[in-house]
Amino acid sequence: MFWRCNTFDQGLPLYLTRVIKLTDVCTCIRIERAVQYHPSTDCGRMSSSEQLMQMIKGYLGVHTINKWTLSKSPLDGLGLFATEDIAAGEVIFVDKPLIFGPRAGANLPRGCTVCSTLDSDTFFKCSSCALLLCSEKCQNTNVHRDDCNIISRWINKVPMEEVDVTIMSRSLAVIRVLLLNENELELLATLEAHKQPQHGFEVKALREYFEIPEEEEKLMLLACRIYDTNAYQMAVNYGKREMSMRGLYPVACRMNSICVPNVRYSFNGNNDMIVAAVKPIRAGSEINTCYSGLLWGTPARQMHLKRTKHFICKCERCADPTERGTLLSALKCFNNGCRGSLISTKPLISTAAWRCLECDIRIPSKNIFAVQNALGSMLAMLEFKSFNDLENFLLHRVTNFIPKTNQIVVDLQIRFIFGTEDIGLKELSESRLALKESLCRGVLRVVAALGLGDAHHRGLLLYHLHATLAERARRCPDLYEDLKPEIESTIEQAYNILRDDISAPPDLELRRRYLGPGSDKPHEERFFILDS
Ligand SMILES: [Zn+2]
Ligand SMILES: [Zn+2]
Ligand SMILES: [Zn+2]
Ligand SMILES: [Zn+2]
Repeated sequence: MFWRCNTFDQGLPLYLTRVIKLTDVCTCIRIERAVQYHPSTDCGRMSSSEQLMQMIKGYLGVHTINKWTLSKSPLDGLGLFATEDIAAGEVIFVDKPLIFGPRAGANLPRGCTVCSTLDSDTFFKCSSCALLLCSEKCQNTNVHRDDCNIISRWINKVPMEEVDVTIMSRSLAVIRVLLLNENELELLATLEAHKQPQHGFEVKALREYFEIPEEEEKLMLLACRIYDTNAYQMAVNYGKREMSMRGLYPVACRMNSICVPNVRYSFNGNNDMIVAAVKPIRAGSEINTCYSGLLWGTPARQMHLKRTKHFICKCERCADPTERGTLLSALKCFNNGCRGSLISTKPLISTAAWRCLECDIRIPSKNIFAVQNALGSMLAMLEFKSFNDLENFLLHRVTNFIPKTNQIVVDLQIRFIFGTEDIGLKELSESRLALKESLCRGVLRVVAALGLGDAHHRGLLLYHLHATLAERARRCPDLYEDLKPEIESTIEQAYNILRDDISAPPDLELRRRYLGPGSDKPHEERFFILDS
């Protein structure tokens, strides 16, 4: 039994009036117009969790959906909860994007709006819609035809040649909301939307170029707000230069955030998101992701969450000044001669003083902000022209400014670990190989201390540790027997975490087959793959 809201019906696109079903009578007259027709805001609750589950089941169809349910969360609104005990590594659900498209960031590189490639000598602008394309083949796809049909219907305010391809690319994800069918719109309308005025620049930018029918504009504006609240950044194919994309995943976006999540997510080649447990989850427990950087310190995560998601996380990790002993946000003590680290006295209160773990000096938050800002500017300017530069900075300079536990150091360590791939492991000097191994182990310890379980990061670090150990054994075959147990276990664990993930290293499977446990390849052949 549904009520219909009279106010909602005014000025609504026809296709949306049919999808709004309110369980409450609402008084939404005071609410700004653009949000009016979105039922998950102040206007009232749209659907019960059972109705939502039905809609989601209808949408996902054959996809697995039986290990979770929607229920009231102590964190915020509805959340996802396990309906049975789930083992580490088990897939909890596979989600399909309602809509996806290029991310909207101003400084992201722009490529083909169909295949996402950034590498092409033949980019051109479609004369009917001003979207960037790499080839006639991409132009003749259904994907482009759909995009093109919407845009070419709009009346131009300026000649097509003057329409900026970058603006079109930044807006495309939002334009695609106009392609949704009735059931999909119904599901979209159940997603939360930010109300802050900064959301929606995409539509304002499009208005400079086109006359857009009012109802389409309203729906796109709503989509902007829903995207900014709920979208996930999608992974790109390993080693390929592709545009960074974002997608609206109707189940995944209902996971609430804490900073020690119990799931990881990855993407397969069909844009499906696969959500798996990183540790055992008991029946009845909430299934949580983290909306921020897992290896960022608390002030950085808090600021990011506040700016982009408009909330302050109060999880156990955020409340712990040492962040489980990792000291990821620690700064150097201001006391001359003291080698201690400064940490916040009350991390949930941004204005609280910081104190030194050695000399106990107290530093007011404004002085801490000044240092954090200075570090932020320094980081923004850091540009390593070569791998040597990075290595040099990491080994000899960065710890002049910050403790070696700080997230910036951890970030540079990860850059070093991944950066060795560009050089090629075989080309690495002995000392670099040894450094890579010790950095892998160090960052793995941070991941373990934070309690991140079998997170995606752990999979990549284990892969790199494996590759380093295997390279050592290749250079010095006498070492193989000693290293074998760890060579095998690291690739096996990395494989279990990263398989079916488009961003995983492509030789993951091959390495597991040749160098993993139970490999029946003769010794000479085992290292053949490393020589090739
Ligand atoms: Zn293309
Ligand atoms: Zn076109
Ligand atoms: Zn938190
Ligand atoms: Zn001190």
